[in-house]
Amino acid sequence: MTPAEDIAQSLIDINPKLDRELLVKTLIFVINAHDGQLRKSGLPYVMHPTSVARTLAELKMDTAVIAAGLLHDVVEDTEYSTGEIKEKFGTEIAEMVDSVTKISDIQKGVNRTAETFKKFLNYVSKRPQIIAIKLADRLDNMNSLQYLAPERQKIISKETLDFYAPLAHRLGLYSFKFALEDLAFKYLNPEEHASIESHLQLTSKEREDYIQSIIFPLNIKMNLEQLDCDIRGRSKHIYSIHEKMKARGCKIDELYDIFAIRIIVNQVAECYMAMGYVHNLWMPLYSRFKDYIAVPKPNLYQSLHTTVIGPQGKLVEIQIRTKDMNETAEYGMAAHWAYKFNLKKEELERNMDWVNTITVMQNEISNSTEFLGFLHESLLPEDSYAWTPQGKKITLPLGATILDFAFAIHTDLGLRCLGARVAGNVLNIDAHIPIGETIQILQSDSQEPQETWLSMTKTPKAQNAIRHWLRKALAVQSEMLGQKIWQKELHNLKISKENYPGDVEICKNFNTQNMNAFYENLGKGDIPLKDIYAFLKQYSEHSWAKLKILNVFSSDDEPLIIGHNERFLLTYAPCCNPLPGDPVEGIMKSGKGIEIHKEDCKVLNKIPQQQRLTLQWEAPEGAIRERKCILRIEAMDRVAIEKDVFNTIAKHNALVKKTIFESKDGRTNGRIDLLAFNSAQIKNIEQSLKTVAGIRKVSVL
Ligand code: MN
Repeated sequence: MTPAEDIAQSLIDINPKLDRELLVKTLIFVINAHDGQLRKSGLPYVMHPTSVARTLAELKMDTAVIAAGLLHDVVEDTEYSTGEIKEKFGTEIAEMVDSVTKISDIQKGVNRTAETFKKFLNYVSKRPQIIAIKLADRLDNMNSLQYLAPERQKIISKETLDFYAPLAHRLGLYSFKFALEDLAFKYLNPEEHASIESHLQLTSKEREDYIQSIIFPLNIKMNLEQLDCDIRGRSKHIYSIHEKMKARGCKIDELYDIFAIRIIVNQVAECYMAMGYVHNLWMPLYSRFKDYIAVPKPNLYQSLHTTVIGPQGKLVEIQIRTKDMNETAEYGMAAHWAYKFNLKKEELERNMDWVNTITVMQNEISNSTEFLGFLHESLLPEDSYAWTPQGKKITLPLGATILDFAFAIHTDLGLRCLGARVAGNVLNIDAHIPIGETIQILQSDSQEPQETWLSMTKTPKAQNAIRHWLRKALAVQSEMLGQKIWQKELHNLKISKENYPGDVEICKNFNTQNMNAFYENLGKGDIPLKDIYAFLKQYSEHSWAKLKILNVFSSDDEPLIIGHNERFLLTYAPCCNPLPGDPVEGIMKSGKGIEIHKEDCKVLNKIPQQQRLTLQWEAPEGAIRERKCILRIEAMDRVAIEKDVFNTIAKHNALVKKTIFESKDGRTNGRIDLLAFNSAQIKNIEQSLKTVAGIRKVSVL
């Protein structure tokens, strides 16, 4: 046999369904193309694509994907072009090779982190199979990492741990995940890796004996019950053990679950039967029981997990699943791509949904670090879900709130979310989503996101949308405030229109792109007032004598009026705790706008006069600080009354904190806790609520 036929045969040994002719043709081409090239290890280069192809064959990928895997380094490392591959192997294979090559090109760039992954996902969303090629490629590279310089080892390992391993996890490719994690961990934290590894070796006999003390009675029990099954016990992976130690803050010998017992049965019903038999033998800890068969993980993982008090009183985790489920756990989505006709449509959609979300997100998120954060979060397993009224299932991380749910449906819906209606009850925006329920989001056009929303949300999608909105609102406000401050300083320093420095000079001095950016920085407090003072002084002094005849800038607002428009840019100094209505002055704080102090505050008075702003409250008693207030409502029970109440309150810009609605005998009683800005606002809300159909009585507590 020729080398090409030899390798083709080894692949067909793994999966007999593969197309021998295409494999041989590809291999002849690849061997020839890489002829004479060596790897860092000194072995012929062709060993690498061969190893990638073998992994892909184990994943039950079809011949086209394996051919692309064999060809994946040809364009990058040899004289052949994508065009030539297309001519020889057709569009499908050529496109896969092209995508993998482009990803490699991206990864050679300077920014190897988030930016890289954004592009990576862009390609992946078009052809998901290239994830498998890329993971197989990465696995073989990790296996040959010892030949690289230590610095490169660390960079590649970190990338593997940050991105490829979570990606494999999210796709349910556990065999990849564990292998990649352990290899990366070995290079990133060699001491810890060695210590866990040696502990595992030293205790292996003891552990093996213990595992046998479980498997042995289990086998007898299953035989007696005539349940055909396969029982295995294995040590957990080094990195998983490390993560568990970190999470629980304990030493390795304190971990009870460094191994797991797995029972593999033939049918789903037998999983539950097997569990019953296990519980006959040892007492279970019900708090640790998990039924991933009834509620699969989003990556399709299915299994029963139960923890029992085993021999010697030790806790033992036992996983029970069918052969099919085990296949999915090992090969994940890949197993489903291979048999794509067997895959339920909704399962495929759910997983593709995830890739699509990420593709959409990368367009929305401008900041690479934020995107990486998003990616990390979205790669973690998700655990709770609820339904939209249209019957769409939305999966969110555990602890996600109504706001997260609203943002998951649509950004605009999130931004206008007032709460939700679930099974006749109204839930606040910060309530956790009730798992498995149908959630109807209540919305209002006059709703506005608040900074506190960030702590009420858990998903990066919601947080990014809120941050984006706040940032935009902040920019607009900062610009307006900056403009006001500038006018005031021009007036205070008696700058004449004749002496006005001009936009170009101003932007140059303060290093800003244009006047809008200058105002924004000033309003945000990023340009200290003393710099403004120092700059303007040179234009003010020499014309002092001519002041009277010159046209001095006037200031509309003197002192500076503070009010609702600056709500993102006002903070109350903790030292003197000023209240609206107190005589106050302000200091500009970088990135935060104005910090308000009482006029007689000691902290304030240590600050030079030119760095302070004289302020005045918008209305004499106009409280800007939010005030808590409780409304009680008595009404007739009718459809959507809560929604109308919400909308009415939102129209007056008050923030609803908590609501309780109770319906009984055709009547609805409601209690609403809200935050308002002043008593006039509360009065207005009370009046408006009285006009809502069905409401009989409104009282303010
Ligand atoms: Mn490669």
